[in-house]
Amino acid sequence: MQVLKFGGTSVANAENINKAVAIIQQAVKKEKTIVVASALGGITDILLQCAALAAEGDEQYKEKLLQIEQRHLELVKALIPVAQQSSVLSLVKKSCNEIEDICNGIFLLRELSARTRDRMAGYGELLSSRIISARLKTGGTANSWKDSRELISTTSDFGHAGVYFTVTNQQIKNYFATEPGELFILPGFVASDLNGITTTLGRGGSDYTAAIIAAAVEASAVEIWTDVSGMMTADPRLVANARVIPHISYQEAMELSHFGAKVIYPPTIQPVMRKKIPVWVKNTFAPEAHGTVIESGSVRNGSSIRGISSISKIALLSLEGSGMVGIPGFSKRLFEALANAAINVILITQSSSEHSICVAVEDDFADKAKDVTDKAFAWEIETGKVEPLAIEKGLAIVALVGDNMKSHPGVSGKMFGAMGKNGVNVRAIAQGSSERNISAVIATGDVKKTINVLHEEFFETTYKQVNLFITGVGNVGSRLLGQLRQQQRYLQENLLLQVRVVGIANSKKMLFNDEGIDLSKWKELLQEGEPMRLPAFIETVRGKNLRNSVFADVTANDAVAASYDQLLQKSISVVACNKVACSSAYEYYKKLKDLAREYNCLFLFETNVGAGLPIIGTLNDLLRSGDTINKIQAVLSGTLNFVFNNYDGKKSFASVVRQAQDEGYTEPDPRLDLSGTDVMRKIMILAREAGEKLEMDQIANASFMPASCMTGSVDDFYAAMEKEEAHFKKLYTEAQAAGKKLKFVARYEGGQAAVGLQHIDPQSDFYHLYGKDNVVLFYTNRYPEQPLVVKGAGAGAEVTASGVFADLVRAGR
Ligand code: ADP
Ligand code: ASP
Ligand code: MG
Repeated sequence: MQVLKFGGTSVANAENINKAVAIIQQAVKKEKTIVVASALGGITDILLQCAALAAEGDEQYKEKLLQIEQRHLELVKALIPVAQQSSVLSLVKKSCNEIEDICNGIFLLRELSARTRDRMAGYGELLSSRIISARLKTGGTANSWKDSRELISTTSDFGHAGVYFTVTNQQIKNYFATEPGELFILPGFVASDLNGITTTLGRGGSDYTAAIIAAAVEASAVEIWTDVSGMMTADPRLVANARVIPHISYQEAMELSHFGAKVIYPPTIQPVMRKKIPVWVKNTFAPEAHGTVIESGSVRNGSSIRGISSISKIALLSLEGSGMVGIPGFSKRLFEALANAAINVILITQSSSEHSICVAVEDDFADKAKDVTDKAFAWEIETGKVEPLAIEKGLAIVALVGDNMKSHPGVSGKMFGAMGKNGVNVRAIAQGSSERNISAVIATGDVKKTINVLHEEFFETTYKQVNLFITGVGNVGSRLLGQLRQQQRYLQENLLLQVRVVGIANSKKMLFNDEGIDLSKWKELLQEGEPMRLPAFIETVRGKNLRNSVFADVTANDAVAASYDQLLQKSISVVACNKVACSSAYEYYKKLKDLAREYNCLFLFETNVGAGLPIIGTLNDLLRSGDTINKIQAVLSGTLNFVFNNYDGKKSFASVVRQAQDEGYTEPDPRLDLSGTDVMRKIMILAREAGEKLEMDQIANASFMPASCMTGSVDDFYAAMEKEEAHFKKLYTEAQAAGKKLKFVARYEGGQAAVGLQHIDPQSDFYHLYGKDNVVLFYTNRYPEQPLVVKGAGAGAEVTASGVFADLVRAGR
C-alpha cells in the first residue's frame, strides 16, 4: 500500500488536477493506493477570512463565499462530463449552502469560536477530495471516497488537534483491511474529536493526514506531491540558487521544516519515522524529477550542512537580573508561566553568567508572555531582583541544519563569520547538543541577505555574488564599466564571482537594478534613470541590504567622499578612486580605516597614488611583513611628468598642459596637478599609510606656478599661463643649461614631507622617466641602500579603471 498526498497548488485548478489524476492512475497500476487531498490552493485562507469577516459584522464575507462556490462549480464543469456532473454539482451546492449558513450564524452572533473555525476550514478538503474522486470515477478509475473524520480521532484542541493514535490506528487499519478496492480518496487536514466534532490538524496538516494513514497501514511509501521538485537547500523564493536535496534523514527534514521550510508540515515526520516508511517529496508539474527522499540514516554529501531555513515574526524575551545568579528555579518558573499560557517557546539561550535567560516566541504571543512573566516574577521585580521582561519584536530566526555538523568543527565560525562580514547583527544564538541545528536570531530585514550569504558560504560550488554600486561614470568610470562587462565571464568562471553592477550614478542621474544593470547599454538606461540625489543614492545602497555589497567612488566629489562612513557602518566595502577622503583631515581618514575594521569590510584606495600601480599595496605588504619605511622619494604626478617631459620651449607651456588634460591625465581641475596639491595629497596618503599622522598644511610645497595663474576659472588659468610663458621657459632653459631635467618630486623622511620642482641629474633614478610615468622609491630596513622601486604609467583612464577594478575584486572576495 502507498499513500499519495497532493497539496494545494497541485489541485488548484482543472489543469493541475488532471496532472494529479495522471499520476494517480499510474500509481494504482503498481499498488493499492490511498490519496490524500488538500483544499484547492488558497481556499482554506478564504474560508477562514469569511468566518473572520462575518464575526466582525462585515458583509463582504458573502462575496467571498460566492468566489468559493464559483471556483468549485467551474472546476466540476471543467473536469467532469456534462452527463455526470449533476450529482457532484449538487454536492458542491449543498456544502456551499452549509458554509453560508455557518457564516450567517457567525454574522448574527458576532462570535467565532475555534470550534466553528475548524468546521469552516475543513470544507476545503471535503470539497476537493470529492471532486477528485468524481473526476477519477468518470474517467474510468474506480475508487472509494472516505471521510477522514471517521478514521482520525483527536483531542478537542481546535486548530491544532492532537491525534489519539491507538484508536486512530485501529480505525484506519480496520477500514483498509475490510474495504475492497484498489484506490481510496480522502480529505487531508480534517479529523474529529471524541464527540464527533470536526477538528483540524494545523495549517498545512494534509501532509500529517497522509503520514498518519501511512503509519497505520504500514505503507511502503508516502509521496508528498507539491509544486517544487523536492526539499531544497533553502527556500527557493528567497534563494535563486537553492538546490534540491536528493536524500535527507528524518531528523534533518524535521529540523528543516520546523524552521520554516514549508514543504512539509513538521509533525508529518514522526509517525512515518517510527515505522521507517520513506517519504518522497515530488513535483506534480515535473513528475519525472527525482525529488527528495526522506528516510533513516544520514547521507554524506560532502557538505556538513543539509539546508538553511528561517522563521520570521519572532519576538525575543529577555529576563534579566542579578537576583537570578546561582539560584535554581528561575528558568523553571519562566517556562512554567509561558507553558500555562500556552505559549510555545521556539529557542532558548542562557548565558553562563546566569544573569539573563532569553527565549524566542512567536511575535503574536509576546505581549501575553510579558504579562504572565511579569506576574510570575512580581515579587522579584518589585524588590529589584529581576527586571521586568524585556521584549523585542520584528525578529527572525535563521538556522543551519545538518546531521554532519557534529563531525565538522568550524561550522558556526564560518556561519557567523559570513554574517559578520555582511553586517548582520546576531541577537541570540542557540545550538542544541544534537549539533544538528545552529540557530541565530536576527532582524527580519536581514533574513534574505543572510540566507543568501549562508547559502553561498555552504553550498555554492558555483559562485559568490558581488553587488556593486558605482558613482561617477565619466572618463574612468565608463572604462571601469567596460572592463567589468568584458571580465564578467572570466570572474565567474575563474574566481567564482558573479559580479553585478546594481547601481550607478553620475551627477545628474541614478539607476538601480537588483538583477544587475545591462552593461551593454548602461548609458541609455542611465539617461532614463531618476534624478541623482546623493543622500537618496547612499540610502538606497544601505537600504537594499544586498549581500557582499561594494561601493565604488569614481568621482572627485567632496560630498560623495563624506558619505563613506555611512556605508562602512553597514559593512559595505568602499573602493575610492576619489582622493578626497584619504587626503582630508587625518581624523576622517582614520575614522574610515577604523570603521572598516570594526564592521568587517574593506576600505581600499590603491588608485589614490600612481593610478593602477601597486604602490599602496606594496607599502602595506612591507609593513605587514614587519619592515619599516625610512624614506620615500617619488615622482607622483603623471600630469607634471608628462608636461615636463614634453615641454621644450617650442610649444607654449599652456598648450602642453592642455594636451595633458585632453589625454585624460589631469584631475578634472588641472590646477590641482600644476600647483603640486595633488602630489602633496599623494605623499601624505603614503605617509599616513606608513603610520604618520600628517595633515596637508604640514607638507612643504615649493611651487613653481606664478600666483597669477592660480586665481579665477580654468579658462583664466590657461590664459594666465600663456602670459607667463617666459617664466616657464626660464625654468626649462636653466635646467637644460646645467644638463638636468625638471621633475616634480615628493619626499617623505623622518616624519616630514615635502614636494617641489627639482633639477634631476642623469645619475638619478628619476632621470629616465618618460611620458606620464610615476616612480616610487621605498627605502626601508630591508631595502636600505637600493630602494624598492615601483615604476610605470601613473595616470590615464584605462590604468586607473583597472586599479579600481582590482580593488573591487579584492573587496568582493
Ligand atoms: P503544498 O501546498 O503542496 O502543501 P506548500 O506551499 O506547503 O505546498 O510547500 C511548498 C512550498 O514550500 C514551495 O512552493 C516553496 O516555495 C516552499 N519552500 C520553503 N522552503 C523550502 C525548501 N527548503 N525547499 C522547498 N520548498 C520550500
Ligand atoms: N488546506 C490546509 C491548509 O492550507 C491543509 C493543507 O493544505 O495541508 O492549511
Ligand atoms: Mg503544505
